[in-house]
Amino acid sequence: MNFESELHNGNFYIPECIKCLKVVWPPSEFCNHCFGEISLKKKAHEGKIIEFSRQDDMYFCLVEFDEEIKVMAKIPDTPKIGQTVKILKCGISNGNYFFQVI
Ligand SMILES: [Zn+2]
Repeated sequence: MNFESELHNGNFYIPECIKCLKVVWPPSEFCNHCFGEISLKKKAHEGKIIEFSRQDDMYFCLVEFDEEIKVMAKIPDTPKIGQTVKILKCGISNGNYFFQVI
């Protein structure tokens, strides 16, 4: 399993080191702590909004998963700091990861 090919299919897995069990973010082939191999064990479910901003008519928020991973995501409704959100859609567009949460 490869992080990017899974993300491309709409599955956001958390990359984790098989040796030291740390979350490896940004995703890479090897752990940045111990150079162990990476596995995709679990899917990211719920995240928490840390920050948000408004651009035109859309809200973008910084969402934290597993206290290690932070991604920018689009959100349809007015976000609140600390709000729990779920991933509605994710993928890769023009080489960039994108996320939509709800
Ligand atoms: Zn490691």
